[in-house]
Amino acid sequence: MRSTKEYRIDPLSCAYCAKCHSVCPTYEATGNEGFAARGKILLASAMRGDFSALPAGLLGDPRDNGAVDWHGNRELNEYLDFCLRCYRCLEVCPSMMATVPIFEAMRFEIAREHPPPLPMQWLMRSVLAERGNTRLLAGIGALPFSLLPWAAKRVRASDKLRSVASKLHVDIPASTLSARSPTVFLGKMEFPLPASVLSRGRVYDFIRNHQNVAQPERGTIGYFLDCLTDIHFPGAFSGTVRLLNSLGFRLEAEFNSPCCGASALNTGDEQAFEKMARSYAKTFADAPFDRILFTNPTCYKTVKERYPEILGDKELAALPEPVLDVELYSELPAPPIHPAWSDLNIAWHNPCTLGYALGDKTTAPSILRKWGLKISEFPDVEGCCGYGGMFYLRYPEFAAEQSARKLKAWQDAGIDLAITCSAGCIGHINATAIRENIPIPTIHWGELG
Ligand code: SF4
Ligand code: SF4
Repeated sequence: MRSTKEYRIDPLSCAYCAKCHSVCPTYEATGNEGFAARGKILLASAMRGDFSALPAGLLGDPRDNGAVDWHGNRELNEYLDFCLRCYRCLEVCPSMMATVPIFEAMRFEIAREHPPPLPMQWLMRSVLAERGNTRLLAGIGALPFSLLPWAAKRVRASDKLRSVASKLHVDIPASTLSARSPTVFLGKMEFPLPASVLSRGRVYDFIRNHQNVAQPERGTIGYFLDCLTDIHFPGAFSGTVRLLNSLGFRLEAEFNSPCCGASALNTGDEQAFEKMARSYAKTFADAPFDRILFTNPTCYKTVKERYPEILGDKELAALPEPVLDVELYSELPAPPIHPAWSDLNIAWHNPCTLGYALGDKTTAPSILRKWGLKISEFPDVEGCCGYGGMFYLRYPEFAAEQSARKLKAWQDAGIDLAITCSAGCIGHINATAIRENIPIPTIHWGELG
């Protein structure tokens, strides 16, 4: 898999070739240089006071105005915000510019002089950095809708999908397939609801006490429970454990690990990122397993590639090796999944972090075909679903357009169900399916277990 650590972070390495323009969804929508990778990289040069690389015409000509405050410039913040973090620019860049990590570094630099708003700091540093607080807030958020379930909207399912789901004996409260992503809408904004405390509790109980490991055992792997899946789709955790149990692995989860820090990279909160990385290091130092499984590629990439910026060699050496579910499944035989899944026409949605940042677009669908599923891929609508971390909240209309294109292509092709491996994409695509009234739920592939 690709590592962005091998890419260049010096903005002056950009060849200004504009190849990144041709793939950038936000440049395509606006025609504005500042929304393409090249524009942001040029602005990174300007932020460090090197105007020699900055062509005239971008935000005016700063050489005429040495007093421009590039750190506090509102337009600059918008250029960074209106970016899907899809990594398509990184993939096509002949100069191997580390585009998205450069944008994240720009955010950190801006935030040193203009810190994020206090509620955002609280959310990052006191809620997402402490799993107990994350769950508490999620539990409070879910409560009214547990009492009044009709207040949330759900993705429709076709009769065929309902009939298959009834044969699967899924863990009903924790399953995305049966819960179908309850979501509330406030104007154009969408808020996927947390799973109930009860369903999360059932998943934890299963992982702690009811693993049924096939013989011969192949050993124990740690399991990093990412916060988004934990809050919204915990059934993906128990399903993943069942899949790997059936292949001889025992999974050992740590239920109180913090958010990996991707949220802090996205919002520019350097202090929160450091806190999360250090807390992860403390939680998993000298763990009794050599490898730790990630079922969200964004968390995997953050821990594997960005933690060395925070942690020392000794701390890193004490940690288990991160392994992504895609890598692990590709080495293993097919697990015995329920034959009813093979009745469905399934679309694979490749998350951008997997497809463009890590550079793997083919392994996951071929794994699913090996497992006996009918998987379709859609090159015309491949690419970002519009989730983009905080993007779907900041620009809900544009975000919904991206996922609506996919859903309509899937609907025209007679797809019953979409599968992916990223919790953020699931919540956003399902919200669009509700809005567009398209009967195609999206689930995490762990829920096949
Ligand atoms: S493709 Fe790469 S080198 Fe070319 S302008 Fe974009 S960021 Fe710069
Ligand atoms: S990450 Fe995506 S949206 Fe952002 S600049 Fe690159 S191609 Fe454009």
